[in-house]
Amino acid sequence: MLSVPSTHSSICIAGAGPAGSTASIGLSSRQIPHVLIDKAEFPRDKICGDALSGKAVHVLRKLDPSLLSDLNNITDTFLPSFGVRFVSPNGNHIDIPFSSGHSRLKNAPGFIVKRFDFDNFLFKKTESDYAFRIHGAEIISIQRNGENLDITYRRNNTENHLTAGLLIAADGDRSVSVRSLSGRKLDRSAYCAGIRIYYENVSDMHPENFIELIFLKKFLPGYLWIFPLPGGMANVGAGILSREVSRRKLNLRELLDDTIKNHPLLKNRFRNARPMEEPKGWGLPLGSYKHNLSGNNFLLTGDAASLIDPFTGEGIGNAMLSGMIAAETAVNAFSHKNFTAELLKDYDEKIYQLLWNELRLSRTLQKLSSHAWLFNLVVNKASKSATLRATITSMFEDLDARSRLKKPEFYLKMLLNR
Ligand SMILES: Cc1cc2nc3c(=O)[nH]c(=O)nc-3n(C[C@H](O)[C@H](O)[C@H](O)COP(=O)(O)OP(=O)(O)OC[C@H]3O[C@@H](n4cnc5c(N)ncnc54)[C@H](O)[C@@H]3O)c2cc1C
Repeated sequence: MLSVPSTHSSICIAGAGPAGSTASIGLSSRQIPHVLIDKAEFPRDKICGDALSGKAVHVLRKLDPSLLSDLNNITDTFLPSFGVRFVSPNGNHIDIPFSSGHSRLKNAPGFIVKRFDFDNFLFKKTESDYAFRIHGAEIISIQRNGENLDITYRRNNTENHLTAGLLIAADGDRSVSVRSLSGRKLDRSAYCAGIRIYYENVSDMHPENFIELIFLKKFLPGYLWIFPLPGGMANVGAGILSREVSRRKLNLRELLDDTIKNHPLLKNRFRNARPMEEPKGWGLPLGSYKHNLSGNNFLLTGDAASLIDPFTGEGIGNAMLSGMIAAETAVNAFSHKNFTAELLKDYDEKIYQLLWNELRLSRTLQKLSSHAWLFNLVVNKASKSATLRATITSMFEDLDARSRLKKPEFYLKMLLNR
């Protein structure tokens, strides 16, 4: 940890969550010096469901395979997970493994781990001769100054200044970088309100640590989740599209509390459960629409770029993927000593080439999922058909297979096939 920060760096990363730490590891692996600033002292909490998908695992493997083996060796805080249970509004459920042949897998396709632990794991991996890390330092303003950016941050009640040619914005939702540089405004149709409560002793958890997405009618478009954690704990929460929260004047905390205590599917499971904290809320900027992800002197990553999957609410994998691509773009810009919008524009293309089809499909699924009857139909049929369950499993691994969910024929066939 740098005690006296340098006052100029070609590249500065704002935020050391999954997006920022991944970008930092990517830059260090190519020996590119940079500053990494976070307002928090690590380890720190982050309100989240704590579920890491196959995509996050894929990025870790691509960054450095040893990261994944380190992670697989941690058993006290990381819980391997093999699939997902979907519960439909009428209370039926299906169990879908994350990958076919999952019982033969050596390592789990996904994990559940408190962000307190995961982000600290990743942050520790940013330690390098090339990364000047400053934590407990909040960026309070970013201003253009000729070809550079003037960045002011507050640390121990003192204001400090730094100039940088390129800012990799990884400062999450409520990003000061987005406000200062891109000017994008909050859009409630592409934003989800979420709350989380850690519980202990929730009963009837899945034996293979499947995560549970419970699509009860009052939570559509959105869902209630129960994700297992090590040590008999569970991450319990709910997320609903913000537009709906405002339209229906919902109080998400009261709704979650009432559902846990009174819903026939849940009340027995929570009878002996104990909340470990007060409910905590945070927003999810969804990747429902395309935005500019770069401009003169900046690249947006993770939540600052609104890259959360609109159907599942997963954002860690996309944050890490965008951090990795941002590092690659920054290496190229650094070698050309050129941080102009023209050169950085490639970043938008790469990100949307990798993610747009998936995000667009998830936006369609989010819309379809508001129709409780359709959800009931799919889950009813799949609970009786191993072939349909295998088809849905293949959809996790194959985007072309998943795109069948967009087609009316897929549902029509189910309706006719009684
Ligand atoms: C309720 C909820 C449940 C979720 N569940 C899941 C899930 O189960 N699985 C999943 O994949 N995703 C989930 N997500 C989404 C996921 O949490 C985010 O997509 C992910 O954290 C994005 O990572 P990031 O690095 O972009 O931002 P963050 O993780 O938010 O990190 C941003 C970092 O920037 C720092 N920072 C912020 N402002 C400043 C500043 N001014 N100066 C310096 N530093 C600053 C912060 O301290 C933080 O460390 C959930 C989100 C919510 C709200």
